[in-house]
Amino acid sequence: MKIIVIGAVAAGTSVIAKARRNSESAEIVAYTSGGDISYSGCGIPYYIGEDYIKRGNLTPRDAKWFESRFNMKLNINHKVLSVNPNLKTIEVLNEITGETFEDSYDKLVIATGARPRKIDFNNNNNIFYIRDVETGDVLKKFIHETSPKKALIVGSGYIGLEMVENLVQKGIEVTVIETNSSIGRIDPEISIYLEKYLAKKGVKIIFNDRIKNISEDGKSIYTENGNTLEVDFTVAAIGVIPNVDFLKTSGIELGKSGAIKVNKYLETNLQDVYAVGDCATTYSLLTGDETYVPLGSTANKMGRILGDRLTGGNLEFKGILGTSIFKVFDMAFASTGLDEKEALEKGYSIEIIHNIKPNQTEYLETSREMIIKAIADRKTGKLLGVQILGENGVDKRIDVFATLLTFGATVDQLFHLDLAYAPPFSTTKDPVNYTGMILNNAINGKNKIITPKELKEKRDEFLVIDVRSKSQYETAHIENAINIPLETLREKVKELDKSKKIAVHCNKGVTGNMGQNILLNLGFNAYNISGGYLNYSTLNNSSKVSKI
Ligand SMILES: Cc1cc2nc3c(=O)[nH]c(=O)nc-3n(C[C@H](O)[C@H](O)[C@H](O)COP(=O)(O)OP(=O)(O)OC[C@H]3O[C@@H](n4cnc5c(N)ncnc54)[C@H](O)[C@@H]3O)c2cc1C
Repeated sequence: MKIIVIGAVAAGTSVIAKARRNSESAEIVAYTSGGDISYSGCGIPYYIGEDYIKRGNLTPRDAKWFESRFNMKLNINHKVLSVNPNLKTIEVLNEITGETFEDSYDKLVIATGARPRKIDFNNNNNIFYIRDVETGDVLKKFIHETSPKKALIVGSGYIGLEMVENLVQKGIEVTVIETNSSIGRIDPEISIYLEKYLAKKGVKIIFNDRIKNISEDGKSIYTENGNTLEVDFTVAAIGVIPNVDFLKTSGIELGKSGAIKVNKYLETNLQDVYAVGDCATTYSLLTGDETYVPLGSTANKMGRILGDRLTGGNLEFKGILGTSIFKVFDMAFASTGLDEKEALEKGYSIEIIHNIKPNQTEYLETSREMIIKAIADRKTGKLLGVQILGENGVDKRIDVFATLLTFGATVDQLFHLDLAYAPPFSTTKDPVNYTGMILNNAINGKNKIITPKELKEKRDEFLVIDVRSKSQYETAHIENAINIPLETLREKVKELDKSKKIAVHCNKGVTGNMGQNILLNLGFNAYNISGGYLNYSTLNNSSKVSKI
């Protein structure tokens, strides 16, 4: 059996390695455009920002190493121009000599990845894209040779923000332009914390705007909202396009995203043709719907599964949660599962909670608060999605949540998780346990939660009681809220109207929950405002949101 693999970075090389581990008899041939294989695309922003990271750190293996380790033929600088599924042949261009030739396959693996979406203007002067090591080389050289002072980043997704950190690290003043009203795919009320953090780092983000034109030298950027930005260069990170153009005449079926449609066996609609990695669609583990979330973690997994299947194994692709994480300066953002908009679009009746908790025992100087937004299905009690922003401990919590989502956990199960605790690592009840407690109380118990957004919409229906101290209330408070500090609540409660719905809150939620319990136990219809005043204040992008 002859397997041809097109593309040899994350997905393609994983196919090769697994296929060879399973079988000594398969003939394996790969063609890949460009000279680098199996590189760490994810490391490119750090390669640009840090002098100690060398090119070789991103490209630890070359074609020769791969050929000898896996007894296969790896043709670098070879681009596949077309596929003929009837004859089971491919047409290949040798990028060095310009020669073209045909090769034939029994099984064909397409692992051609994706390329950056371009911003299209009359010229491309000083506009950079980050995708492979060569694009990283170009920008690194440009920075080294011209010592630029100002940069514009187009797009506030994870690549854009990783570039922010690494350009600032190089002493460059960075502005970001974003068409949406919040950062990347972060829900707005969480995005606000990150916006404020970045502002403190001197990073300006222009929202709800896009580039209209760029001057001939690439140094003056004109936006649709009338801004003119003077910069030395621009990095565009506005998403990717799957590399499938060479398949135009093959009859291959594409999904909504333009990526190749595959089933759980990673088969395309063409006999003996498979697709993996950023050029392929995936599907949601939660809803089963087709989705496209191009990530290295998924590409590697798909590659291993396909390598196994091609050589007699029976692994299946189970779908994804879209779990991802990135860091910008000391702040990390991670998400898994559905966000609020997606959950609503899917028709779930959702419970949303915001939980602000330290990553470790508070008296330790490395202790930092993180904000967790969690969404669950009111009907089944199943967790649907989580977003976390914080400086420390975000990675471990998101992985616990991703595991819970993978196995279909219901909110009542989260509290019972036996998670590791010692002061440097967590709190006696971990933020994951707390998230479960709050969600479970809200869905299955008596402690109803109201989000700031819901409260704003239904403000007339609620009497808002602020149980924080008088001085906190005087600094800033929800409009028309009554201040009854918690210690006086039992006494003042007699003055309250029992027929009214009450929304009680403190700063982050914990004292508000105590106030809610007092009111509930005394027969009031009380809700706790999710995430307290801190979260409420994000609604108006209030300058009072200082830090988490
Ligand atoms: C800056 C950056 C940071 C990232 N950070 C992360 C991260 O932190 N975490 C994460 O999970 N993911 C991250 N990613 C995404 C991750 O790099 C990709 O998901 C992963 O590289 C996809 O692997 P792939 O093998 O499917 O495709 P690719 O890496 O795109 O490789 C495809 C290869 O196929 C070649 N090719 C294309 N067309 C042809 C053709 N016709 N003939 C022959 N060869 C062809 C291409 O030249 C390329 O070499 C990041 C990406 C970038 C750019």
